[in-house]
Amino acid sequence: MCGIIAYVGDKYCKDIIINGLKRLEYRGYDSAGIAILIQNEKVIDKEQQDKEKEKNQNKDNNKNKDELIELIGNEPGNSSAVKILTAKQAGKIKDLEELLQGQNFDSHIGIGHTRWATHGAPTQINAHPHSDCIGKIVVVHNGIIENYAELKEELIQKGHKFISETDTEVLPHLLEEYKDGDFLLAMQKLIKRIKGSGAIVALNSDFPDEIVAARIASPLIIGIGKDGNFVASDMPAVLEHTRNFIIVNDFETIRLKKDSIEIFDIDGKLIQRDPFKVNWSITSAEKSGYEDFMLKEIFEQPFGIKETMRGRLIDGNLQFEELNMTEEQIKNLNKIQIIACGTSSHAALLGKQLIERWARIPVEVEVSSEYRYKDPIVEKNCLFIAITQSGETIDTLAAIREAKSKGAKIVAITNVVGSTVARESDSVIYTHAGPEVGVCATKTFTAQIIVMYLMALYFGKITGHIDKEKYAKIIEELEFIPNKIQLILNDADKIKKIADHLYKYRTFLFLGRLSGLPIALEGALKLKEISYIHAEGYAGGEMKHGPIALTDTNTTVVGIVPKDFVYEKMLSNIEEVKARNATILTIATEGDDEIQKYSNYVFYIPSTIEELYGILTIIPLQLLAYYIAKNLGRNVDQPRNLAKSVTVE
Ligand code: GLU
Repeated sequence: MCGIIAYVGDKYCKDIIINGLKRLEYRGYDSAGIAILIQNEKVIDKEQQDKEKEKNQNKDNNKNKDELIELIGNEPGNSSAVKILTAKQAGKIKDLEELLQGQNFDSHIGIGHTRWATHGAPTQINAHPHSDCIGKIVVVHNGIIENYAELKEELIQKGHKFISETDTEVLPHLLEEYKDGDFLLAMQKLIKRIKGSGAIVALNSDFPDEIVAARIASPLIIGIGKDGNFVASDMPAVLEHTRNFIIVNDFETIRLKKDSIEIFDIDGKLIQRDPFKVNWSITSAEKSGYEDFMLKEIFEQPFGIKETMRGRLIDGNLQFEELNMTEEQIKNLNKIQIIACGTSSHAALLGKQLIERWARIPVEVEVSSEYRYKDPIVEKNCLFIAITQSGETIDTLAAIREAKSKGAKIVAITNVVGSTVARESDSVIYTHAGPEVGVCATKTFTAQIIVMYLMALYFGKITGHIDKEKYAKIIEELEFIPNKIQLILNDADKIKKIADHLYKYRTFLFLGRLSGLPIALEGALKLKEISYIHAEGYAGGEMKHGPIALTDTNTTVVGIVPKDFVYEKMLSNIEEVKARNATILTIATEGDDEIQKYSNYVFYIPSTIEELYGILTIIPLQLLAYYIAKNLGRNVDQPRNLAKSVTVE
């Protein structure tokens, strides 16, 4: 996920782009860049630039401005009278802004990007825009090019030169390949070659008055201004200039000029689409109209999950090169140790069940803060997996260092490319949920679950413990999971109504068995962290060993009772608490009428394969925590006493 903005019009574009990027920073913020088209004779005054060079030593790898701001297109073979000036660097938008201070970036056409890396660390070289071989074309991109490795190989064979580690860099080179004819046509050819997701925006110095763009699965909007037009990832980027918008749909391409907007369908046919007007404030637009980032992020889960599967689940096949392990090494594993904290440790518990069931490899899960001090035994042939959303969790980092010092090989699962944990691990599997702003983890949790599903299946296939038919069935079902989550989200109002009744209770017990247990723990954690209500998650079978003493008329029990291996057992547990006068909410599979006898409230989820229920049952529990907290007037995005990434012990 990242932010894109481009402008063509009567005004100078530099400030429009920088301010737009600041408004999009919530979408990603590890590096940023800008490119403008400029008449050759207007390029930066060399003398002034040299003076600046002496004064400014930049923070990014001690590079000076001269290296970060580059005039491209002086390469042999580029006869264009117009040149491209780019500036990009690792860090925040304000660093880019400082870099541009005092620089001649006066142009009426330009593109900008704030990056949330998916392929390649957040360095200056990997920052967008990326260019073709002769500096005629520059591209910014949001998304993942699934078949980039194959395309890159093909382009290298044809003589193209690559400098970054990104998937994005194949795009300008592909456009360069298709340069005969007009630029829009090249973009139309390009979108037929790529697999994956992308909002792509490009400039070409041979077409100095136009911006060309395309969309496949990543958001893209057109803003219609008085003195020019905009294209951006999201409306907040340009709300200060216009309130008139057009949404670009999948597989459409657009050509934007100062006073014209053309939209084309996949077959290259011109489409007519009327603009609409919004009256959102900028803050509400940043949240796409949702009241809070947490709610927005809950609703982004179908997309986050698709992005996390992208490039790993291709045409029914599972690919896991990132693991950096041979089949032999996987077959020889005699143990897997997972360490994690908080929500990530619940994904780990689910992962343990799946790996043990499908791959028959024993798995131990431990919270990092315990693992690091216990003088752990690191066995031979034990794989060590660390799960951390931010990649900066101090206890997980310390646990990794402890295990490494004893010879362990580490696989990290994290959402942040280039984070400390990612850098210190032997291999990294990135969740591609996009940046999470709300302190309470939601979309990063379901992305972690997806990685657990894929990894357990992959191990199961290699160890030969999962039968072929079951494997194929699960792979097929995984493709439906984003839609099933969407169906649950469509019913959010039903959970809201239930929360309107339950918010007055002061004790909540979440009960589950097997996949329902980590979800019970996670459901309880969500509720306590944002509503400050006391909540506990328990294994259904453990109630009789103590917690049932808590149940009375003041208690709400949330039963996770999907139609899985332990459905009947859970029914008995629910019956036990019902007999003690607790109020019961059950999360059950659609069509299960029986459950109503046991429940005061039922929320139905779509049916799925037994082992996959965890990723569906958590969604209503996130919504329940959210609506209860809202009823209590809590700040759900910044709950008291908590921070997004825990960098202290
Ligand atoms: N995949 C691209 C990269 O890693 C774009 C990521 C984004 O959406 O910011 O550079």
